Parts: sequence; C-alpha cells; structure tokens
Amino acid sequence: MGREASEPRREIPYERLSSAAWGEKVAKTFHYRAAFGTWEYFGFCPRCGHDTSTSIGGAPIMRALTMADERPAPVTVPTLTVECQCSHQHGSDKTGCGAYMNVFNVQFK
Ligand SMILES: [Zn+2]
Ligand SMILES: [Zn+2]
Repeated sequence: MGREASEPRREIPYERLSSAAWGEKVAKTFHYRAAFGTWEYFGFCPRCGHDTSTSIGGAPIMRALTMADERPAPVTVPTLTVECQCSHQHGSDKTGCGAYMNVFNVQFK
C-alpha cells in the first residue's frame, strides 16, 4: 500500500452513478466502429471527458485471435448498457469514473 505522492486534487472522484442526462449525451455523441470482429461503441464520457468504449458481444481479445478481419453483421441493440471505462484512474482498483446508463436502440451497421 503506497501513497501516491502527488496525486492531482481536482480529479473527478469515482462515483457509481446513473443519470438520464448522461445517457442522452452518450446517445447523441457516441459513434460506432467495427473492431476485431465485433462492434465498438465509443466516445467521450459526458461526466469525466475521457474517451471510453464499449464492445458488443464481449470477449474482444478472443475475437481478435479468431476473426480479426471479419466485419460484424449489422445489429440493433435494444438496450445497451454503457459504462465509463476510460483509462484514467478515478479511484483505486476502479475502471472509469463510475458513470453508466442504458442507451436504447443503438444501431450498428
Ligand atoms: Zn475518466
Ligand atoms: Zn467517465
């Protein structure tokens, strides 16, 4: 257990929170792309401003090995849970800033 000597103080602290406004902003500003045989939904987290992405169908690493060049089939996800997964550390042992929300009818094509 070490203390970080000079941790910046003006950080947004990790906080598990879900808000409709956050979800709306995600829906408006996020984009999708094909990555490693699956779809990725990405953009800047409306809460902390860092870039984050969510993969559809999971296990992108396994997929990278098997179907890296395959473009995924178009899909509409009725309810996609988007969670901030920025690479910035907002809290120890945490991923992202804790913001999450469901986004509805997300189309990937
Ligand atoms: Zn962040
Ligand atoms: Zn965030």
